[in-house]
Amino acid sequence: MASNTYSSGAAPTVVYFKSTVDDESFLYHVNLFLIALFGVVVLFRLPRFTARLWKVSEWTNGHLLHHTNLRRSATRRVEFNSQAGSRHRDLATDDSHWSTVQRVSEKGAAPSFPPHVSSCPRFCRGLFQLLQTRFNPGMSLLQVMVIVIYLSVVIYPSFYKTNPFTDPKRYGWIGVTQFPFVFAFAMKNNVLALFLGTAYEKLHFLHRVIGRVIVLSINVHGLGYIYQWTLEGVFVEKMASPSNYWGLIALICADMLFFFSTSWWRTKAYQLFLCTHIFSIALILPATVMHKSTTTPYVLTAVGLYVFDIFMRWIKTRLTTAIIRPLPELGMTRVEIPSINAGWRAGQHVRLRVLSSGMGLLGWSEVHPFTIASIVKGEEGMILMCKKAGDWTNKLFDLAKLGGYEDGSEARQVKVMVDGPYGGPGHRMFASFSAAVFIAGGSGISFALSAVQDLIQKDLEGGSRVKVIQLVWSVQDPASLVPMLPLLTSLVQQSVFTPIRIAIFYTRAPIGKFPFSDDFFRSTALTLSPGRPKVSKILEACISKAVTLGSGAKDNEAITGMIVGVCGPVGLADSVVAEVGKVDPTRRDQVGGIEVHEETFGW
Ligand SMILES: Cc1cc2nc3c(=O)[nH]c(=O)nc-3n(C[C@H](O)[C@H](O)[C@H](O)COP(=O)(O)OP(=O)(O)OC[C@H]3O[C@@H](n4cnc5c(N)ncnc54)[C@H](O)[C@@H]3O)c2cc1C
Repeated sequence: MASNTYSSGAAPTVVYFKSTVDDESFLYHVNLFLIALFGVVVLFRLPRFTARLWKVSEWTNGHLLHHTNLRRSATRRVEFNSQAGSRHRDLATDDSHWSTVQRVSEKGAAPSFPPHVSSCPRFCRGLFQLLQTRFNPGMSLLQVMVIVIYLSVVIYPSFYKTNPFTDPKRYGWIGVTQFPFVFAFAMKNNVLALFLGTAYEKLHFLHRVIGRVIVLSINVHGLGYIYQWTLEGVFVEKMASPSNYWGLIALICADMLFFFSTSWWRTKAYQLFLCTHIFSIALILPATVMHKSTTTPYVLTAVGLYVFDIFMRWIKTRLTTAIIRPLPELGMTRVEIPSINAGWRAGQHVRLRVLSSGMGLLGWSEVHPFTIASIVKGEEGMILMCKKAGDWTNKLFDLAKLGGYEDGSEARQVKVMVDGPYGGPGHRMFASFSAAVFIAGGSGISFALSAVQDLIQKDLEGGSRVKVIQLVWSVQDPASLVPMLPLLTSLVQQSVFTPIRIAIFYTRAPIGKFPFSDDFFRSTALTLSPGRPKVSKILEACISKAVTLGSGAKDNEAITGMIVGVCGPVGLADSVVAEVGKVDPTRRDQVGGIEVHEETFGW
């Protein structure tokens, strides 16, 4: 054990803790253990991984955006017309057209449904549901459990035959050996997420936890030495050594990373958070090697991952022209990119950069993520719906307005860089479930639109098990529905084999004249109601429809569960997860289990 011995008038003598453990080798084996744990989780995900192999397109889509020539198909082009909105009368009554049509695929082949692999065996469903319970907003018990397991592993080397107050060396190694992990969990082109069959942003919580472990370890390491050298009166002398001042630079970088990564900076000044992140990373890596050359393998692994990510982003970036239109009722800008019409999966997002002086002096340098709101091979190409949320999105809206589209002029064209696609449902195949419910709040409709259109498209091709589709959209103002009406009614009309219900809820009393006539919503397929959606009732109605036997081809198939996709603010996702947790276990088992897919616009 170390101790400081003081005698009057003499400098204190510091007795160091002498560890008998080879720190470098010890931490290397701790890392191997962490990798083995990760491997075990991947093994559990293997059945879903293999199920996705049923169709080549399930694997080839979702990596590279491109343009493909379209064959004329039965899919109707939905003319986007903000003015037509409330006069749109295609769906004035309930027409049960889906019950009268027979599926004939283009090649006359029989339907081929995707295999379904449940996320957990039946006997685990209760436990799995419990693990989805929220611990904090946006954080589930399952995530907390993963964090606890990770921390337990790294706490072991923090105290095994060492002392944090007198053996700072061990903590330096703990910090550095976590570099590859913190980079691996941050990458957009994320190999770990690919193995796990999830979206990269779903792993960001681990990036944050590992980052904090690194910052804490580096501080214990650096401050430990500074404390000892100060006691011994040799601080200035020690800092003259290059390896030590590089160590100090690495310590400052780690603290800067931590400070500017707090949620306050991320929400108030995202670009500052981003710039300080890039600057600190660019400095901390060489500083670590200059501080101690034996850390090179860890630093090089981190650099390799980072370079791979940058390279993939470059490969995935397309420079093209977009048509932008303002949607004042929704407070959104609609970005249409006709030159990109394939290469993504429903639910994925892209990162958009607008190269126009109208975006301000530095606007061109900002990249913002937006979920793709259209299906592949649609006639309009890729569609993004960008809600006014801050400086950049406001400028985009103003730029779109400058085009004079609202006054009847042509919409404005701008040069854009589109990087993606990223994220998405991973190994989950929405078309393999028996029922699909999508709950969207505000601009979250982009995710729901692409998912529903994709299901309808797959259904027309005989590749979807889904027997009932429900879309719920919460907006503040009923007028928000006006520009979306042509698209929503066309969804109902296109879904000839699978009943689709679209329920829109508005939470604010309309300002001025109500935008729709009294008899407008006579169809039960598309409804508009005041208040908030009763999620439990909606879920129960969908379960009932899914388990009711009909006479279609899908009714001969086993019931394969219900997917609930939720997209919008964190609070909405949390409340939907809570409602799903309240579903009666018997009903849950009757429908084959309920899974929630969350898309929240932030990290
Ligand atoms: C995966 C993902 C998908 C998204 N899809 C959509 C969508 O389909 N439609 C839509 O309207 N919005 C979507 N968003 C949100 C959208 O990216 C932000 O609203 C937008 O970036 C805000 O930029 P701003 O400068 O106008 O606002 P700011 O005032 O700078 O920021 C407003 C909020 O957006 C966050 N934000 C800002 N810049 C970024 C960035 N580059 N990356 C991530 N978050 C950022 C900030 O943390 C803050 O919480 C999505 C976000 C994510 C993470």
